[in-house]
Amino acid sequence: MQQEDGITIDQLAKVFRLEQTRGFNDNAITCGLEEFVRRHLSGALPIVVGYQEKEHFERQRAIGGLLQYLEDGTTDAAKMAKPEDLFLPISNARGVGGKRAARLEKLGIVTIEDLLTYLPRALEDRTQYKEIGRLRRGESVSVRARISGVDQSRISKRTTLVRATLADGTGFLYATWFNQPWLADQLRVGEEIDAYGKIEQHYGRLQISSPVWEPACEMTEIGRLVPIYPAAEGVSDRFIRSLIARNLPAYESAFQEFIPKTIRDEHRLLCKSEAIHMLHFPRDVNSFEHARRSLAFEELFLLQIGMSEHSHALSGRSHVGQGALMDTFIARLPFRLTKAQQQSVREIVTDLGSERRMMRLLQGDVGSGKTIVALVSALAAIEAAYQVAVMVPTEILAEQHGLSIQELLAGLPVSVSVLTSDTKDKDELKQAISDGSIDLIIGTHALIEEDVKFHALGLVIIDEQHRFGVVQRSLIENKDDDVDLLVMSATPIPRTIALTLYGEFEISLIDEMPCGSRDIHTICIAETRRDEVYQDVERRLEAGEKGYVVLPLVEESEKLDLKAATQVARELSSTFSRFGIGLIHGRLSSADKQAAMKDFVTDRVRLLVATTVIEVGIDIPDATFMVIEHAERFGLSQLHQLRGRIGRSGQRATCYAVAEARTEDAEQRLAAFSEYDDGFSIAEADLLIRGPGDLLGTRQHGFLSKLRAVDLMRDIDVMKKARQAAHTLLEDGASASLSVEAHRRFGDVFQWLQV
Ligand code: ADP
Ligand code: MG
Repeated sequence: MQQEDGITIDQLAKVFRLEQTRGFNDNAITCGLEEFVRRHLSGALPIVVGYQEKEHFERQRAIGGLLQYLEDGTTDAAKMAKPEDLFLPISNARGVGGKRAARLEKLGIVTIEDLLTYLPRALEDRTQYKEIGRLRRGESVSVRARISGVDQSRISKRTTLVRATLADGTGFLYATWFNQPWLADQLRVGEEIDAYGKIEQHYGRLQISSPVWEPACEMTEIGRLVPIYPAAEGVSDRFIRSLIARNLPAYESAFQEFIPKTIRDEHRLLCKSEAIHMLHFPRDVNSFEHARRSLAFEELFLLQIGMSEHSHALSGRSHVGQGALMDTFIARLPFRLTKAQQQSVREIVTDLGSERRMMRLLQGDVGSGKTIVALVSALAAIEAAYQVAVMVPTEILAEQHGLSIQELLAGLPVSVSVLTSDTKDKDELKQAISDGSIDLIIGTHALIEEDVKFHALGLVIIDEQHRFGVVQRSLIENKDDDVDLLVMSATPIPRTIALTLYGEFEISLIDEMPCGSRDIHTICIAETRRDEVYQDVERRLEAGEKGYVVLPLVEESEKLDLKAATQVARELSSTFSRFGIGLIHGRLSSADKQAAMKDFVTDRVRLLVATTVIEVGIDIPDATFMVIEHAERFGLSQLHQLRGRIGRSGQRATCYAVAEARTEDAEQRLAAFSEYDDGFSIAEADLLIRGPGDLLGTRQHGFLSKLRAVDLMRDIDVMKKARQAAHTLLEDGASASLSVEAHRRFGDVFQWLQV
């Protein structure tokens, strides 16, 4: 490398970085960058010839080249990083040793690409400089000043203090650092530094304690909008920043463009390398957001390409009759279908009738009437002589659905059966399924786990999908390639996530409650006031109401100090036996469960003590109250599901959440629980409190964490556009390179979804 006339490499690098942080506007140096390089670094001139006339993107590349030149003296394009270099292990990055590499891996940074696409969690504005003479206590600012003195002292046995006096001609400022004695050697008197921190006042003197600092004009930590990265032990946010600053220039141009230019233009997306640069060196908040959204678009676009490739290939056949059976059923219902239900039925029946295989997600809050919609759809297929399988997560739900469906279908020429793990005469039933004498079969996992053979399976309906997870979905899908598939979910998963997890599904939404809005009052109440709750319960029971007491566990668990359901039932029955006390939990045999539910339906029992077996699907329309014990132990969406069991005819109902919130999370959860009663707000609150990992389980999280730039809360529009763009492109035939890239990034996801 040729470097002339006494300017140090550091100084040159500063100028180039300044040009970088100022957004490549050729204003880092008054003579212009090209001239500057001609004078001081002529060997690198070829890199910047014509800099002024270059496009933004080319300038960016040129600066990368200059920084590279300073590192290793090469202007040789062949030595610039190639696309595949991005996949090199992170230990190949400058400034990363073996130990550090292991720590970075814990943050998910395994390759160079991982590092350079690592998303900041926030931006901190450190661009506001102030003269010392004008500083005010309490403000966070940047200061540029010369070090006029450094001293070090020991305050106590354990505490040392390094203090630097900073001066800029307008005043003096103390900068102090505790327990970092090595700083005394790094801070050199006479040198100019930039410092950022909060101004305090001690004994009338201005002071800045433990400020961030760096040599003046370095512009990595101070003087710009600084990205703050998620850090971990042994890998500070600052360390990540310096790694990115050191490695980005060399690799920036290695990022390949996957989104066709026409689509990029249409949606005003930054090209890949520009977006990457802007993510780490944002000009302002908007440019950062622009970059993030551009990258999010790319992720969702590729994901969609990968998903659609498979599902597009799926052909099916028509599974509908004339519709007479369905119409008869609807006409006989004691109520009219809501508009949203009608719309969903239309969408489903259209799908059933098409030659393409149906993959549809029916989403609707608890109590929105999904079961009826499913049943109507089932009848459409049954009329065409196909069989329908309904899969539910628990046996009790299978039994309950079985009963209520049989009742609803009474008088229609449809044969219905329930198959669970403790069905008697199982072989006989399986025989009836395989010879086609059963039209509608309701069951749990048993339906897929045991070798049930269908005569002519046309439609599979999966209820309360969230309980199964995606894995089972693929199992049942594999049962017969031609079947149509309807999954129903009340888990209020935010729409972006729904669209992401169910990328290959169409979505029907029931956004309307059959009995108008629900009227449920939720009260969170401390353990110490439990007595008041049960006084209320007594009043209600006396007035003829009925309701639930829900407990987290069945057996006494010393460790968690939870009251066992059996014990609570015993306690309560001494007080409330005259109203009838029932008990239902997961360990009961299915006959006992059914008996318990029946007693509750017929009012022989008006207070039902239950574990979370009642969480999903149980439909007792006249229950008006629920006491949830140890509510802090339940997740937010579980609480919401539980509460969905009461007030089901639109009557006023009360939910008491008895809780001792010991963590901040629990407190937030309970606050959200009492504040919101619609699934969507609950889901959003849940996502905010817990993040997508916990909300969806680890496997889903593994999937979602591949979407690095996507903001699951806010990117619904990006999601829709990316999805649309991918579909349009696929119709014209997507290029192979797109598909390769989609599989490189999300391959294990596709494998897992088995799409
Ligand atoms: P979910 O969506 O939670 O599965 P369900 O299908 O169990 O909801 O329906 C909740 C209750 O509302 C049931 O008692 C059902 O009979 C009733 N229901 C469904 N649709 C209507 C409607 N259009 N009008 C009145 N009641 C309805
Ligand atoms: Mg339901």
